[in-house]
Amino acid sequence: TPAILPNEPSNETLQEWDRVHQLHPWASMDDWQGYDNMLVDCAEGIYLWDGDGKRFIDGPGGMWCVQIGYGRGEMADAIAAQVRKLAYTSPFTNTTQPSAVLARKLAEMAPGDLNNVFFTTGGSTAVDTALRTMHFMNNRLGRPEKKIVISREKAYHGSTYLAHSVTGKEREKSRFDIEKRLVRFLPDVNPYNRPEGMSVEAWCDEKVADLEKIIAEVGADRIGAFIAEPILSSGGVIVPPPGYHKRTFDICKAHDILYISDEVVTGFGRLGHWFASEDVFGIQPDMITTAKGLTSGYLPLGACIIADHVLERCASPDDPTLFSNGYTYSAHPVSCVAALTNIEIFEREGILQHVREVTPVFQGRLRALKDRFPLVGDARGMGLLGCVDCKAPNFAAEKRLGQMIDDACEEKGLLVRPFANMAVFSPPLIITAKQIDQMFDILESALEKVSAQVASEGGL
Ligand code: PLP
Repeated sequence: TPAILPNEPSNETLQEWDRVHQLHPWASMDDWQGYDNMLVDCAEGIYLWDGDGKRFIDGPGGMWCVQIGYGRGEMADAIAAQVRKLAYTSPFTNTTQPSAVLARKLAEMAPGDLNNVFFTTGGSTAVDTALRTMHFMNNRLGRPEKKIVISREKAYHGSTYLAHSVTGKEREKSRFDIEKRLVRFLPDVNPYNRPEGMSVEAWCDEKVADLEKIIAEVGADRIGAFIAEPILSSGGVIVPPPGYHKRTFDICKAHDILYISDEVVTGFGRLGHWFASEDVFGIQPDMITTAKGLTSGYLPLGACIIADHVLERCASPDDPTLFSNGYTYSAHPVSCVAALTNIEIFEREGILQHVREVTPVFQGRLRALKDRFPLVGDARGMGLLGCVDCKAPNFAAEKRLGQMIDDACEEKGLLVRPFANMAVFSPPLIITAKQIDQMFDILESALEKVSAQVASEGGL
């Protein structure tokens, strides 16, 4: 086979080329050429190997996405066969067997009358599509003022202009522009941050009241949509208080505000169901956005699934208008085959059921960390999503605790995802109960090490 790159560059050379030429997502702009990203060489199951041949459990599951695990020959074969048969055709004029079958499959999986699938290139473009659909609908209904989006502090919805604009996470620190006219944010919903002495029920009442208050202030006639992740994942796996989703959903319905459930992380088995909106939280949104686990990360693909009643309101037979939204790679046939094969593997191996079975082991070990380590302020999660939220107010580098935990875990062969003082994990869904134990054994020894370090500096 001809070498793609000349003379098999060494790992050091690769790192140098990467440092000098590749600007990565979320790079630190003061020093973006000054540090190395981990060079990942290959992967199998729940493990990946770095350039030096060291093996790691992939705690973040890629980026909340590698549900069926790495190295599936069946995925490689299906993808290769589709490339040979038909690598591409324009979704603007044509359709294909994989995209038609996948659209039908997603319509069956999604709740209620969410029967219409618009394929995108990933999660951000799925969110963009959902918001633009709301714009389209309200323009068509002759209410151009009804466009404001309600989102929440700590939400993450993506990196296009519109998706970034409705992202609550650290927006005040961003040097990118956002479309401020179009969005209002509700305060943090994390029960961990409730005032001392307040019950979770009272916290839920307050969070629901925040939505009612903003609707009263802005006016329902100016609010087009409410967008919510069932669990605010990148914000630190924030699980809103019980009952919150149903109550906020009912308020949106009462005010004709479209409810967009961003299931880019919670979809495709992360909580033991295809989608969490109805099966876990009892709501039937007007739109669901999905990506990531849809192909288990093998190829890029996203989708915005839209309810019949929304598209019915977009139609105007007397004044036909094009839905001028879409991408060259919408419904990419090879990505759709990857999604279909991924779904086949889920079904054949009973992965949703497996997640439900191992969740108690995962969540049990997670919650035990809080009792064992004073450094752990909160250990929360749901399904195979978890977060260790550390607190050490007397420790100068409190915001680096996530990174310190990640470093200590890496030494012992586990990757976690650091966010400030938090460490987050969402392993491949095929992880066994025994592997979950191995993962938490490493995490516990890392917490021991970091706790000792923090204590030695007077931080605990
Ligand atoms: N929505 C949520 C909830 C996400 O977590 C993400 C990515 O992490 C996105 C949207 C954006 O997806 P993508 O990175 O595929 O554009």
